[in-house]
Amino acid sequence: MIVVSERDVPALIDVGGAFDAVSAAFAAMASGEARNFPVVREALGHADALYGFKSGFDRKALALGVKSGGYWPGNAKRDLTNHQSTVILFDADTGQPSALVGGNHLTALRTAAASAISIHHLAPPGARTLGILGAGHQARFQLQAALAVHSFDRVIAWNRSPEKLSSLAKVAADHGAAFAPVDLPTLGREADVIITITSSFAPILMDAHVSGPTHIACMGTDTIGKQEVEPALIARARCFTDEVAQSVTLGECQHAVAAGAKPAAEITEIGAVINATHPGRGPDDVLTVFDGTGVGLQDIAVARAVAAHAVETGVATKIDL
Ligand code: NAD
Repeated sequence: MIVVSERDVPALIDVGGAFDAVSAAFAAMASGEARNFPVVREALGHADALYGFKSGFDRKALALGVKSGGYWPGNAKRDLTNHQSTVILFDADTGQPSALVGGNHLTALRTAAASAISIHHLAPPGARTLGILGAGHQARFQLQAALAVHSFDRVIAWNRSPEKLSSLAKVAADHGAAFAPVDLPTLGREADVIITITSSFAPILMDAHVSGPTHIACMGTDTIGKQEVEPALIARARCFTDEVAQSVTLGECQHAVAAGAKPAAEITEIGAVINATHPGRGPDDVLTVFDGTGVGLQDIAVARAVAAHAVETGVATKIDL
């Protein structure tokens, strides 16, 4: 098997590589050729850590693997990333491990790829202004990927602590886009596309904030109880997701579905749009939402791309188990 260290991963995959790998995984999920297995997530009762696995199999790509890891809140004090993960890939014919790949940078890239894929397929025609809520670790990656796949000339942003927005201003400047910090009503009114990427447990973006043709990629809600947007927004939107089972239980749609404001049957997997079995944004759709919950097949897809490139470029370390 090969080992690709966390240190080597950023040079082995870029935004475009992650976009292609995750698109193919979403497409295979929607056509029934790939499925995610039930997620395990447990509080360890040690170091305040949350630990778990995300796993799946893509029969079309013969991609089999597991991402294992979680959240260790004390890591920052040790100069380590709080989110820690590692992907193991297996040979689908024999079950033998084929690659061990550092998963921290890949998690950020595959999450950013998901919102970028939704923007590519669902942004309203002529979208020029991108709004982003949140300025934590993940926000920078979401912004980079969005600016790479769609031609925005302006980025407007809101964060609970506005001083953190400077990291996003730099990303916008690197892409030649104007940048402005704004309040929530301005963001909702002026943005054609909005990415939410906070760890909030209560709605921040309200229905009254959002007007005109808009696409919202809800990316922060990946756990039961988290919430970033008012359920009325979900109720009036045409909704898409990575996986319906996760969207209705732990994604942004969980609240509107539980309240009976959005039937689960009206939430479509984005892979169906990629496969052109669903038309995506319709001519009468004002608001579209993508509920990006994060699935194991995303992790496996980007780790496979990295492993293949590592072998091609001689970066992979070979070991015998
Ligand atoms: P982070 O801790 O670096 O940043 C958190 C952000 O949320 C900051 O901007 C902070 O100001 C904001 N925030 C926290 N509580 C808030 C509140 N009550 N109201 C408004 N803003 C609030 O985290 P991160 O790594 O940037 O991740 C952001 C979110 O994305 C987390 O919830 C994380 O679990 C989630 N996430 C989702 C996926 C996915 O696949 N969908 C993948 C990775 C991370």
